[in-house]
Amino acid sequence: MTAHRRAVVLGGGFTAMLTSAMLSRHIDEVVVVERDEYPAGAQPRKGVPQARHCHILWSGGARIAETYLPGMTGKLLEAGAHRIGIPGGLVSLTPFGWQHRFPSTEFTLASSRALLDRVMREETLRQGRISVLERTEVLGLTGGADRITGVAIRDRDSGDERVLEAGLVVDATGRGSGMRRWLERIGVPAPQEESVDTGMVYATRVFRAPEGTESGFPLVSVLADARRPVPGRGAVLMPIEDGRWIVTLSGTRGGEPTADAEEFSAFARDGVRHPLIGDLIEGLEPLTAVQRSHSTVSRRLHYDRLGVWPEGLVVIGDATTAFNPVYGHGMSAAARSVVALEAQLRDRGLAAGLGRAAQRAVARAADDAWAMATSNDVGYPGCRVQGADPRLTGPAADRRDADMMGALATRNRDVARAALALMTLSATVTEIQSPRLFAALRRGPEVPVLTAPPLLPHESARLRIPAAA
Ligand SMILES: Cc1cc2nc3c(=O)[nH]c(=O)nc-3n(C[C@H](O)[C@H](O)[C@H](O)COP(=O)(O)OP(=O)(O)OC[C@H]3O[C@@H](n4cnc5c(N)ncnc54)[C@H](O)[C@@H]3O)c2cc1C
Repeated sequence: MTAHRRAVVLGGGFTAMLTSAMLSRHIDEVVVVERDEYPAGAQPRKGVPQARHCHILWSGGARIAETYLPGMTGKLLEAGAHRIGIPGGLVSLTPFGWQHRFPSTEFTLASSRALLDRVMREETLRQGRISVLERTEVLGLTGGADRITGVAIRDRDSGDERVLEAGLVVDATGRGSGMRRWLERIGVPAPQEESVDTGMVYATRVFRAPEGTESGFPLVSVLADARRPVPGRGAVLMPIEDGRWIVTLSGTRGGEPTADAEEFSAFARDGVRHPLIGDLIEGLEPLTAVQRSHSTVSRRLHYDRLGVWPEGLVVIGDATTAFNPVYGHGMSAAARSVVALEAQLRDRGLAAGLGRAAQRAVARAADDAWAMATSNDVGYPGCRVQGADPRLTGPAADRRDADMMGALATRNRDVARAALALMTLSATVTEIQSPRLFAALRRGPEVPVLTAPPLLPHESARLRIPAAA
């Protein structure tokens, strides 16, 4: 095998697995380089600390994952994950009121992130042509500013260092990627950086779900409202495998949840816009301590705008664009970027120009998710913005249209269909603009405002609050 027909994927997480599965359709050999040793089962590991928090895989990302890893959804469901219809299986207090549970047009795959990663890994590594070097750290790039020829790696057990040559190197090492440093060493200047930082903190705890709710329970969320001049506080409850509920609380600067177990319940009940999730977890057995995360800054590194870009290199996933996780977009946006990379690979093969064209395509694929997250986040008090995206700072920062659509989505099923296709990253902003949507926007609300959470009688049986009429 010549090194030219080899791709090396840096990092062995979600994006790396999908990227490898995609690349193996076009390139003879794919080698994944992962610093960690993978756990035997669905266990969290050091390199993916965010796995302890609620991870929603929206239908946009799930469909792409299924395309590259056929049968993956079935394996996940067999292992206990839930497929929750959206909005039929969604009980959500949006900034505009409770969402009506119209017939589902989208879905989410609900499991622990550790289970999702295990299934993705097993399904990817089962495919021929892909191998993984575990406990192996990427140290840097080889080659120069005009072409990357491989990566320098170090075996963490023996300490041995060597070079792995490759015709294509894809960096999927996540938020902590060393790519800026690695590029600087070979003479490539630093990329522009944009960031939007709400100061959001996540606090998560897993509970034993009440008997009788092991299957068919909805995804429940109480969302923050960025239009109010107070810190944004929200909560989400997601049923996962093994009869468990994962509950994640979030608060922006000035409204952060603490790691205190007593305060967790109080925050879920009294700290957010409705006590529903606090009521649902009342008296449940906690299975974990409260875990916190501060990794919530939306940040993008514009490798796509650099005047110099080496052949044979692409940066993808969180390593180039990471989002405030509260929108559940990270994995699905990364999946879209994998599709964008494949389109470039199909058009150009490994010929000259692939690196730059692919980097631009990857950036474009993440842009809808970026715009959705950041244009909402700038509304929170104390949000820190770095960069000059005119959609955040210029006249286009006006959110009236988005708010009008959000409000109508709660009460008009065609508007909900379009808004949820966008939110689940199943369709682009351009794709949702149809005569059907415009007619629905003109029609206005079709059903009354919901005055209570739209729980079905069997879902609300263990609550003190009544089911919606
Ligand atoms: C608290 C929190 C909650 C989230 N919730 C959601 C959600 O609900 N839905 C959603 O879609 N997204 C969510 N995300 C985002 C999601 O976690 C990321 O988008 C996703 O993990 C990106 O995958 P990745 O493969 O690009 O990076 P990661 O998953 O971070 O993987 C990077 C991999 O690279 C390895 N690595 C790093 N450096 C090196 C090196 N030098 N050498 C070798 N290996 C290396 C690491 O060990 C790791 O395996 C959340 C994020 C956070 C922080």
